[in-house]
Amino acid sequence: MVGPTLLDRMAPVLPSIVSDIESMVTCESPSADLEAVAASAGVVATVGTARLGSEPERIVVAGRTHLRWRLGRGDPRVLLLGHHDTVWPLGSLSDHPFTVTDGVLRGPGCFDMKAGLALAFHAVAALGDPSGVTVLVTGDEEVGSPTSRALIEAEASGCAAALVLEASADGGALKTERKGVSLYEVAVHGRAAHAGLEPERGINATIELAHQVLAVAALADKRQGTSVTPTTMSAGTTTNTVPAVGVLSVDVRVRHAAEQERVHAAMCGLRPVLEGSRLDVRGGANRPPLSGSSSADLFERVTRVARELGLAPPTSAAVGGASDGNFTAGVGTPTLDGLGAVGGGAHAPDEHVLVAELAPRAALLAALIGDLLAVLPTTGPTHYSSGPAATGRPQ
Ligand SMILES: [Zn+2]
Repeated sequence: MVGPTLLDRMAPVLPSIVSDIESMVTCESPSADLEAVAASAGVVATVGTARLGSEPERIVVAGRTHLRWRLGRGDPRVLLLGHHDTVWPLGSLSDHPFTVTDGVLRGPGCFDMKAGLALAFHAVAALGDPSGVTVLVTGDEEVGSPTSRALIEAEASGCAAALVLEASADGGALKTERKGVSLYEVAVHGRAAHAGLEPERGINATIELAHQVLAVAALADKRQGTSVTPTTMSAGTTTNTVPAVGVLSVDVRVRHAAEQERVHAAMCGLRPVLEGSRLDVRGGANRPPLSGSSSADLFERVTRVARELGLAPPTSAAVGGASDGNFTAGVGTPTLDGLGAVGGGAHAPDEHVLVAELAPRAALLAALIGDLLAVLPTTGPTHYSSGPAATGRPQ
């Protein structure tokens, strides 16, 4: 049940949304610094506990701290997903302090995505009964989620919807498509020789790499939205030696899972051009695509919910960058991303959040969660007794 009252109720909460963002932004959390991430997890846990009324589980994987709240009774049905690490190194606050000026909030990681965490906490707090909601806040999204991926996938596969609190696209647009990512390294093994005395005895890894660069680039398919980009490359040891080894990095972005498979097969099928040289291709899919079919129903739902709240209909955007929403979509869970703050400048000096959009955004999120909980069946009142085998979730 949604209505304009939710908007009215959220407006007076704005000062505490802003102060929660301040608490989290002023605890710096660069992904690479495990101690900083652990300290940040402590702050996020304190902020979240105050709003949600219960403490999170602290899940530490390889020294990295993630937080999970499974709220109320019954099985988890709706996953709210965010991260508390940022790309900003320690000390960024001295150049980019937390400020709110003329309705614009600034500070490292405010837009991506500590404001999104505050929105999640306040949206859930506005629900009468949060039963069925899981809030998962991870600590390594900005480095590709190496220690949280399994947790995210397991948590999402038990839920009927994943709502990702990443920053919105331009003008507050929700992210309904994100490209999948594959990463490769192509190593070339040739043979060294003196470039002056007997170059004919060498097998030139630089020339082999040149052939491979063009072969790799040709795998792109613009019509399918597939980019295959040769990026860094190095070969050789000295300027007067035929290079014996070289290595090429390749960044692949796809809209469709079938394209990810096609490119993978082609990458694995690369063959050397020079006689006697050898290729070693490493890598593969890093994140599956979040395709439009994963988000379509949720986008339709949030559009209706916005109308019922009296808000402008949300817009949607397809983006090339990946997020943890790719993982939730990858396990087949309907996923809507970009539900976090409205603003701009992610990963950039002008990172900012528009304060006026915070309360309506929290109201929209609360209404969407409430709408989902109302239609999703509750599956058993005491789900934790069903055990890990039945739920498929890690302990
Ligand atoms: Zn992010």
